[in-house]
Amino acid sequence: MKPRLDHIGIAVRSLDAAKIYESLGLTVEHTEVVETQRVRTAFLSVGDSNLELLEPVDAASPIAKFIEKRGEGIHHLCFRVDDIESHLARLKAEGYRLINESPVPGAHGCRVAFLHPAAGNGVLIELSEKIES
Ligand code: ZN
Repeated sequence: MKPRLDHIGIAVRSLDAAKIYESLGLTVEHTEVVETQRVRTAFLSVGDSNLELLEPVDAASPIAKFIEKRGEGIHHLCFRVDDIESHLARLKAEGYRLINESPVPGAHGCRVAFLHPAAGNGVLIELSEKIES
């Protein structure tokens, strides 16, 4: 399977930011605290992809630091992949900087890993593998 755009992550001060998308007719279908990222997330599906709103749970959250430095806005793109380990190993071998060299738990019980923004020309890229249970 080719990677698919799973979601666009948007850094917000509050999940109340969902209101504009709800006014567009989208619905918050899932909210979850992701401890590894210190964020509260809300997912709104848009066709085959989703918006992921990211609200920091505390000042130590990477999202809090992002908002402090750059303000609210688009934070990352997430690609759904099969076999996340083989993607990480290949990217590393090709010289791309990784934030997570091995997958960590993400929202929806997925296994996720972030590449360094320098690897994506300023775009923070997340890979996500869905675990079928
Ligand atoms: Zn994400």
